[in-house]
Amino acid sequence: MKKILNLQCVSCGKEYKTGDLDYLCASCGGTLEINYDYKLIKKRFDYDVLERNHTYDMWRYTDLLPVDDNDGIPPLKVGWTPLYEAKALAAKLGISKLFIKDEGRNPTGSIKDRGSAVAVARALELKAKVITDASSGNASDSLACLTAGTNLKTVIFAPANTPQAKLAQLYVYGASVIRMRDDYDAAFELCRQASQKYGWYNRAAGINPYGREGKKTCAFEICEQLQWEAPDKVIAAAGDGTIISGMWKGFTDFSKLGIIEKMPQMIAVQAEGSAAIKNAFDAGAAQAGSVKAETIADSISVNRPRDSALALQAIKESGGGALTVTDGEIISAIAEFAQVSGVFAEPGGAAPYAALKKLAAQGKIKKDESVALVIGGNGLKDISGVLKAVHIPDALLTPSLDDVARLAGVETGEEQ
Ligand SMILES: [Zn+2]
Repeated sequence: MKKILNLQCVSCGKEYKTGDLDYLCASCGGTLEINYDYKLIKKRFDYDVLERNHTYDMWRYTDLLPVDDNDGIPPLKVGWTPLYEAKALAAKLGISKLFIKDEGRNPTGSIKDRGSAVAVARALELKAKVITDASSGNASDSLACLTAGTNLKTVIFAPANTPQAKLAQLYVYGASVIRMRDDYDAAFELCRQASQKYGWYNRAAGINPYGREGKKTCAFEICEQLQWEAPDKVIAAAGDGTIISGMWKGFTDFSKLGIIEKMPQMIAVQAEGSAAIKNAFDAGAAQAGSVKAETIADSISVNRPRDSALALQAIKESGGGALTVTDGEIISAIAEFAQVSGVFAEPGGAAPYAALKKLAAQGKIKKDESVALVIGGNGLKDISGVLKAVHIPDALLTPSLDDVARLAGVETGEEQ
């Protein structure tokens, strides 16, 4: 691929050619970053080209993706999700401009479809027979979906906390699922070893630089949807950290190509019980250590984040920050956010809204700043948490017509 200069280790700087390896640095085990030849790309890619392009999905940015095409993967609409302006909510929080990027609108209901799409395209280019992943659901679901109708077999390592709906998706799409009684980190490790032993293509977040590249299309879209401008702040949830690192790469790509001028601040939101990246940010560390993750938000429940080096770099370079929210704050945020915005987020998806409320209350959002919330996944993917926030009565009724308005809590003005 001419558009790619090299793959470079974030830790030791060692450079590799495309095809040398697809995972971690062979010398030091560091994360690899894909470097592009922006001079070459600039010759054929700019906003005029995009404005003439009527393919409204993530593949409109193929010039900036590490694959030559998406031939062979199902023609599903991944990306080009809506960016809503939430005026009433912004006014309520005292913010001048608030945008909601609803990633729950992707084929399997999560932002992970973007990373999986690039990983599947890459695996097909390499003529792999099996693609594998470990995840509590979203990344695995998207892999199972995007290999539909291809010759790729999908093998998924599912940790014990995988929600029912996410498991259902895996089985519906016909993935081979290895259900484990262990946590995400154990599933991740077994997946890595199996990939090494059997030569399966490993999509796992944080170690596969191709997957991260897919996430950056979310940043491209936000800029395009805001008429070639980045918001002042982007607030997104962080488990392994790939949404933060991937989106930052997207804003950086557009800045290097001269498509945007201003860069946003990246704000990472973690669950209080799974805060390895936030802890590392506070300590000024270059990499996150380990925690014993415990949170209701399965999609961001991670002991040792695999993409922490680049995520921390993104937060620092952008002048952003990291904060935590409690499970209680996440649960109440789901229903509250749905009722003010119409968007039903899964626990990990609602975390950015819980964080925004905190930041706004602390006066950390300036009056004239614009903010984009990245809602990573649809609420229907995990309803166990939200059922704690809403009350569904057990009793079934046979109401008379006269009782209906009272039962519905609607004032009619009629005397009872
Ligand atoms: Zn290295």
